[in-house]
Amino acid sequence: NEFDYLFKLLLIGDSSVGKSCFLLRFADDAYVDSYISTIGVDFKIRTVEIDGKTIKLQIWDTAGQERFRTITSSYYRGANGIIIVYDITDMESFNNVKQWLSEIDKYANDSVCKLLVGNKCDLAESRVVDTSVAQAYADEIGIPFLETSAKDSINVEEAFLAMSEAIKKSKAGSQGA
Ligand code: GDP
Repeated sequence: NEFDYLFKLLLIGDSSVGKSCFLLRFADDAYVDSYISTIGVDFKIRTVEIDGKTIKLQIWDTAGQERFRTITSSYYRGANGIIIVYDITDMESFNNVKQWLSEIDKYANDSVCKLLVGNKCDLAESRVVDTSVAQAYADEIGIPFLETSAKDSINVEEAFLAMSEAIKKSKAGSQGA
């Protein structure tokens, strides 16, 4: 078997929060400051090992000039896990998390696993979203939360592993061929 499980993940969140860089860091261990994000929707593949099982992750990136509701509902429907990304230096991107969550409620499977990610945690001097405020919000809505830096490679691996473990536990992913 090439893999034991196939999990489909979706990255959502406001433009410029770092979704493409976050995915590039995880998939290719690379970082490009002026990375030209794809317009529309694209995906990358990477496998991870959990408890001796090979999990193939197909990660859809909704980068570009997306606004709410312009991402077709099929991407939500097909996802086993959805990572909602905001930028810790951009309060509006954090305030908009609840809009993204309502998109998930509308379009995704009820069993979908969610993870809240505050990216750009390397920019401590420009921080406007307190860790404790974001953590309290995540606790309130009952989803896990991590702060990451795609640039400095902080918690990116951990975010995808946490998501993969959560999906594996929920047995929501489809079994590999
Ligand atoms: P997207 O529109 O959400 O896909 O955002 P991008 O991945 O295109 O990133 C937007 C901008 O934020 C780019 O200029 C990136 O270089 C920058 N960026 C992304 N991640 C980080 C990070 O972790 N730290 C810092 N300092 N900048 C980042």
